[in-house]
Amino acid sequence: MKMKYSLSLGRVAGIQIFVHWTFLILIGWIVYSNLKQGLSTVDIIWSVLFILTLFACVTAHELGHALAAKRYNIKTRNITLLPIGGLAQLESIPEKPKEELVVALAGPMVNIIIAGILFPFIKLSPNVIEEMDLRRLSHHNFLFSLMVVNIWLAVFNMIPAFPMDGGRVFRALLSFKFERNVATRIAASVGQLLAVGFVFIGFFYNPFLVFIGIFIFLGAQAEAQFAEARSLLKGYTVSDAFMRDVPLLKPTDTIEYCSDRLLASQNKNFIIADERGVVGTLSRDEIIKALREGKFTNPVSDAMNRDFISLQVNSSLEEAWATMQTTRKTAAPVFSAGQLVGMIDTENVAEFLMISEARNK
Ligand SMILES: [Zn+2]
Repeated sequence: MKMKYSLSLGRVAGIQIFVHWTFLILIGWIVYSNLKQGLSTVDIIWSVLFILTLFACVTAHELGHALAAKRYNIKTRNITLLPIGGLAQLESIPEKPKEELVVALAGPMVNIIIAGILFPFIKLSPNVIEEMDLRRLSHHNFLFSLMVVNIWLAVFNMIPAFPMDGGRVFRALLSFKFERNVATRIAASVGQLLAVGFVFIGFFYNPFLVFIGIFIFLGAQAEAQFAEARSLLKGYTVSDAFMRDVPLLKPTDTIEYCSDRLLASQNKNFIIADERGVVGTLSRDEIIKALREGKFTNPVSDAMNRDFISLQVNSSLEEAWATMQTTRKTAAPVFSAGQLVGMIDTENVAEFLMISEARNK
């Protein structure tokens, strides 16, 4: 699934690369701040060129993760470039400690390799620190700055806290000794402690650190919750949690009819099926979106999600839920011997989690 308002840049090794529109704001901001400083057109061109090259390095970093994941048969949906960095959407996160370690390390390694390749081309002079002036780039300091920024990217990403690569490396290393959810809990706690430290130091020295601290704190929290939920679902199958009552719609039903069904029931997700079988799913958000676009009398087939996950009654509930989370699906049809027998959605898994948590107390 591609992020909204993203422009495709093409494919590398079969992986689609998108750039998010907010990236234009970054370029615009650089041009604007350079103009405000009274820099010349040549200076501005160097700055923009630097950002573009830097993001090529960020893309290479993400491709590093993606290609390492490919070795373990994990596909990458796409890579999206945002002003704050890149995001490789892997179809799943490797569970084996060694695999997670390799996939997490592959990104920062790419930046180290780039820095290593650039090194022979750089003439080091005594006033090397002055040359590293990102506000005044030219052919004198371009490669040197690029090398330093790549080293910085590798170091920054290796901060041992989620959602940084270093957090995954740390968790993977802990997983060799501890159970995975215990390892996650330790890694998340250490990450949050670091995050609080960043916020505290940033408060006195650098507001940017406050921002990074908050980002890391939330990332660590999300990862800990995800791991906690996974460990509670371990050992169960889809048959333990799925809903037997399937809210069915036909592809020819109108959006208006769907919104009536939405109001008249507790269902927030529907399965769309015709005589041949299931053809899609429809969530509350998709209905609202279609209504907003004025598609009142359009058929469901205009708004439904055709790229759904088919679950089997005996599939692992943990796997099913993890796949739904990583692919951001709110519902999935459940089959038994080729027949549709039910549905799972995020809310009913959430209920299942609440119940098993309460039982475990
Ligand atoms: Zn990375």
